[in-house]
Amino acid sequence: MSYESKMLQDYNMPTRGEVEQNLLIALFKHGGVVRDFSHNETIVDEIADNFNLNEEQKNVVLERIYKKENRIVRTPLWHRLLYRAGDALAKEKLVTRPTKTLKLTNKREWMLTEQGYDKVLEFLNFPLDYKDKLPIKSFEVQKMVKSIFEQLKPSEYNPFDKRKKTKTITKKSKLRSRGFRQAIISVYDYRCCVCGLKLCSPDRLQWEVQAAHIIPHRNFGKDDIWNGLALCQLHHWTFDVGLFSFNDNFKLISSLKSEILENDHGMIFDFSFLDHFKSSNCFLRLPKIINHYPDIAAINWHRENVYSG
Ligand SMILES: [Zn+2]
Repeated sequence: MSYESKMLQDYNMPTRGEVEQNLLIALFKHGGVVRDFSHNETIVDEIADNFNLNEEQKNVVLERIYKKENRIVRTPLWHRLLYRAGDALAKEKLVTRPTKTLKLTNKREWMLTEQGYDKVLEFLNFPLDYKDKLPIKSFEVQKMVKSIFEQLKPSEYNPFDKRKKTKTITKKSKLRSRGFRQAIISVYDYRCCVCGLKLCSPDRLQWEVQAAHIIPHRNFGKDDIWNGLALCQLHHWTFDVGLFSFNDNFKLISSLKSEILENDHGMIFDFSFLDHFKSSNCFLRLPKIINHYPDIAAINWHRENVYSG
């Protein structure tokens, strides 16, 4: 038995399999990513608490001798066990190692892969379509997000994707639409671009904000940053039914059709959100970078085809 295995046995540490499963679930609860294991990371204590580890188990140090370099490396046995679990998950392609994630995000993090994400949903007995609702990061989706962010808007941008006429939904198009969602909500800082509402569930897994297409999918609108807006559920619905749109200066314009609605429509407590459109100078809260602004031609299309002026 190796020195490390003996230490694990002597200190009655959890098995690697148990730590692997816990680590996968912890990744899910932290939005798909955790930083590399060290004393300063809450994740290290969080998983230790799941196993009710005592102070001795958390702090016992493993000494490894690097003969070639003639030096001794001291690592807490618990961190080593976490690392071993991460490494085993990476070999099974359920997570990416910090060295690999670094190239994508510039951060040393362990990240779920799509396969790892499926496995967590299986452990937790959640249906697979949760992936379309939760903004959990996976390596494959983040690669998509990166490519959406890095695209430069072509001078003759066309917001329509005629290829969508073929209705086959491929694995890639599913990743693309999750990438679209992640990219849009993060570029608008998880807020509605009309009212500014920012709200997440207490476990921080679900966000109220939605990624809306300006030109909808059914009209062959593209899944890219220029054809998207982050909207709260109320403003998403109101935008999709044409109760408001934007002019070319991103000023919100309210539909005259809302005038024919009864007075008690659109009231939230004693505030009329329909009146708010009409009375105030309400502008779209734009992303920080001009390259990420919504496309005027796409907005124009919405004004002409959806908005009831
Ligand atoms: Zn809103």
